[in-house]
Amino acid sequence: MFDILQYKSIANVAKENNATIVAVTKTKPVEDILMAYNNDIRDFGENKVQELCAKYECMPKDIRWHMIGHLQSNKIKYIAHFVHLIHGIDSYSLLEAVNKEAAKCNRTIRVLLQVHIAREEKKFGFHSAELLSLLDSQKYRDLQHIEICGLMGMATNTSDIEMVKEEFASLHQLYIYIQKKYFDSNKSFCILSMGMSGDYTIALSSGSNMLRIGSILFGHR
Ligand SMILES: *Cc1c(COP(=O)(O)O)cnc(C)c1O
Repeated sequence: MFDILQYKSIANVAKENNATIVAVTKTKPVEDILMAYNNDIRDFGENKVQELCAKYECMPKDIRWHMIGHLQSNKIKYIAHFVHLIHGIDSYSLLEAVNKEAAKCNRTIRVLLQVHIAREEKKFGFHSAELLSLLDSQKYRDLQHIEICGLMGMATNTSDIEMVKEEFASLHQLYIYIQKKYFDSNKSFCILSMGMSGDYTIALSSGSNMLRIGSILFGHR
């Protein structure tokens, strides 16, 4: 089920903040996606390559598909020809691998660099020092078939609002710093993807402009 009223209320808040909503449909059937699609949603997110490909095949072709989960290099080839934005780039080698597959498809793939901001070790992402040294090295500039469009992060899954605020604020600060220092002349570095069902209001007040929302739109998984 797709909750249209819930969507409209989030969409209003998102709009006030100039934020895009990515509807996260992992584990949900195509009927749910179509219901959202029929309410003019075009951005959808999945976290598994196989599921993403299966849904891409049978869904309308004007959908913008976001790969939001952890991506393995050997699976990039399956999504390279259609993916709209990859949110979870967490190593230079993955960036190189995406570049290589994008070149084969003769296209540029847009990506976000994932930053590890949560206290939980199981989450993925660059540590900020590691990310800054990669950007300092300038070697990413040789990759002609990728476009680095911003940062993505996930806060700790906790009821401690102050902790979540702190984590989002640190990611926002890093985003602004990187934008100024490395992408000043490049207007395409403009996406800060943070905020999910449980923390999207905090994310918006911390400067997010892209939300990845699943369970409050489609029900619990
Ligand atoms: C599942 C998922 C979401 C959406 O989570 P909800 O809590 O259901 O809104 C957002 N981002 C990523 C990376 C996810 O895997």
